[in-house]
Amino acid sequence: MGILVRHVQESALPPEKLRDVTAVIDAVPLLGAAELQLLQWATDYYHHPIGEVFATALPRLLREGRGPGAPQPLWSITAAGVGALQDKALQRAPKQQQLLAVLADRSPRDEDMLDAACPGWRALARKLADKGWVQMTLQAVTTTAESASISARETAPTLTAAQETAVQALCHADARGNFLLDGVTGSGKTEVYLRAVGEVLERGGSVLVLCPEIGLTPQLLERFERRFAASIAALHSGLTDTERARAWYQAATGQARIVIGTRSAVFTPIPGLQLIIVDEEHDSSYKQQEGGFRYSARDLALLRGQQQKVPVVLGSATPSLETLQNVALGRLTHLLLPERAGSAVPPQLALIDMRAHAVHKGIAAPVLQAMQRHLEAGTQVLLYLNRRGYAPTLLCQGCGWIAPCHSCDARMTVHLRTGRLACHHCGADEKLPERCPRCGYEVHPLGHGTERVEETLAAHFPKFAIERFDRDALRQQQQLTGAIDRVHSGSARILVGTQMLTKGHHFPDVTLVVVLNADQSLFSTDFRAAERLAQTIVQVAGRAGRAEHPGEVMIQIGYPEHPLLNTLLNEGYAGFATSALAERRAARWPPFARLALLRASDTSADGASRFLEQVRDLVQPPPGVALLGPVPAAMKRRADRHHAQLLVESAQRTLLQRFLAEWVPQVDALQTPRSLRWALDVDPLEVF
Ligand code: ADP
Ligand code: ZN
Repeated sequence: MGILVRHVQESALPPEKLRDVTAVIDAVPLLGAAELQLLQWATDYYHHPIGEVFATALPRLLREGRGPGAPQPLWSITAAGVGALQDKALQRAPKQQQLLAVLADRSPRDEDMLDAACPGWRALARKLADKGWVQMTLQAVTTTAESASISARETAPTLTAAQETAVQALCHADARGNFLLDGVTGSGKTEVYLRAVGEVLERGGSVLVLCPEIGLTPQLLERFERRFAASIAALHSGLTDTERARAWYQAATGQARIVIGTRSAVFTPIPGLQLIIVDEEHDSSYKQQEGGFRYSARDLALLRGQQQKVPVVLGSATPSLETLQNVALGRLTHLLLPERAGSAVPPQLALIDMRAHAVHKGIAAPVLQAMQRHLEAGTQVLLYLNRRGYAPTLLCQGCGWIAPCHSCDARMTVHLRTGRLACHHCGADEKLPERCPRCGYEVHPLGHGTERVEETLAAHFPKFAIERFDRDALRQQQQLTGAIDRVHSGSARILVGTQMLTKGHHFPDVTLVVVLNADQSLFSTDFRAAERLAQTIVQVAGRAGRAEHPGEVMIQIGYPEHPLLNTLLNEGYAGFATSALAERRAARWPPFARLALLRASDTSADGASRFLEQVRDLVQPPPGVALLGPVPAAMKRRADRHHAQLLVESAQRTLLQRFLAEWVPQVDALQTPRSLRWALDVDPLEVF
């Protein structure tokens, strides 16, 4: 199975490397000129093989030539085949004879019928087709276009002045121009999207809406479904292959006028596309961070808009520093929604110094008192902790032994409820030991994860029901929906959870938000750590006091002097971003530098570093481009592989790109041991 991209008259490849096209699967091209242009650009920019880039862009069934709506291959016997069947000589090839007989009995037959009638028929059919005895034809797709009614279903609220300005800007954008829709949680960004989408539908156009993760935040999809009768194609990781192919076809054929999807949906063909929305543009899930093709869907969305002359709007309560810098450079128009919609007032933020207060099992006394107050007043309390499991460490109090992962440079996390130790990096899993395997003394969990916080709170507030939101408690979509329902109905009063709680949910009765281990990430060496923490705090704080109740936010911290954090509290996210950008400029980090990271790993301790030393010396970088490293990765050993990396840095994107275009093909051409793996990450999110 291959993808035909274009015809050429001649090829520089030796003839034995060329293949004939034996059958064309798709009656009409799957991808149009615009999508091909986008994919070609992505191939060049991320320096990744075009075949894998195309594979990312197409649902699996279509890649394999199957899928609903894909033309069905049909096999039939030819006149020559009928002649051959009568020839006695064929008795020496009984299998071929059988297949011809099946087809002579009834032609054409589809592949499912052949699978049932003659197992292993495929290889035979290819042979017989070469002899001209059988042939394959395609039955064209017949899709019934649904009547695309676009009438509004629910009545929309009257827009605020700021929302009105934003909608006007988006809808009269001369079919071009990019925007940042910058507004705190609850300021009515989604309402602006809905209104702009409504305008596009009225004009007969289609829209693409990208969001970080539909599975975790079904609310966005639900709001579009409530508002519009037009058919919506949703593309996300929770779909089966068939559902995904169907949704893709609905988008590509124009049956669905609204396409909502996660990262890879950016590649979906959408005829009549007139607007692209990237919700929560700061979210790191827009960047593919595993495997080979490490693209940014947000950046590709901006590029797609430019190529197709379609306006793009990036929305966030906590825009990334890159995006804010693009605003400063005039590349994006800043649309600000300064206030919360309706009557909600912004929450009050306070830092709780962990050194100055009594701490009960990881929770400071003032936090427990505040929780008591809010719970007795009848509202809900939310605690955020970026750590699942019971405790991050299992410690022997006799000899100091700490349960290690045998495949990673990491500790095992204690999961008490299941009685397991688990590595959150490689998935290793073993039984929780009762005694120290080294000295036989008692072992104890050390530190606090969501499971332990839940236990502590259950003992402290026995009257109030707790709901835990993390990957262990809520493994399935159904469980998540159940938990959200219990929060909305008010039967759950205390919410404890990880990132799952910070994204997109609307919990109008939550009046107190607590961030438990805020400074855990401040001592990370990653240059984005402060930005991430500020975004998390603002996002989780945004869950509080959305309706008529004013909210309160408490941030537990061991190092309350941290300057950027204080800027965040005193000046808000915009003030924080200004200071953080100044730090980035001084340190020459993105967006004031362009980076690419070559990551390598090997089963031997120094294979990756040796490989990276070799590739570093392949080409002398030109002035303005620096190669830094190789250095071991922050966690050197992970899943029994040893990781190292080489950083490429330049102040200018074009210089970096020109260098990569020369260098990467040479890296590719190197002979490497089978055990060695490498991947290039252009614009990496993390560099340690
Ligand atoms: P965001 O996407 O910025 O978090 P939403 O669009 O979800 O904000 O709006 C938050 C809440 O305010 C929602 O319940 C929404 O229905 C309501 N809302 C939005 N705009 C208005 C408005 N102009 N008047 C009244 N309520 C509004
Ligand atoms: Zn591990």
